[in-house]
Amino acid sequence: MPVDTLLFAYVVVLLGALSLVIAATELHRRRLAPKPSEDRIFRCRRCGFVYTDDADVDLSRCSQCGETNEPVRF
Ligand SMILES: [Zn+2]
Repeated sequence: MPVDTLLFAYVVVLLGALSLVIAATELHRRRLAPKPSEDRIFRCRRCGFVYTDDADVDLSRCSQCGETNEPVRF
């Protein structure tokens, strides 16, 4: 087998392996990434505690002090 064919095969195999590693890493990263949540974010007026509750909740009670809070609007 000519040397340049061997070299070409070597480069192709190397790039293929590199692509597989990058693809596997990307898949792994996407699986670990948190899914976008529909929950509302609340910030307690009394104690400043930040927490989330379901998207259909308009007033949520703080789990730290019991104060009722409105969701944070962006
Ligand atoms: Zn609170």
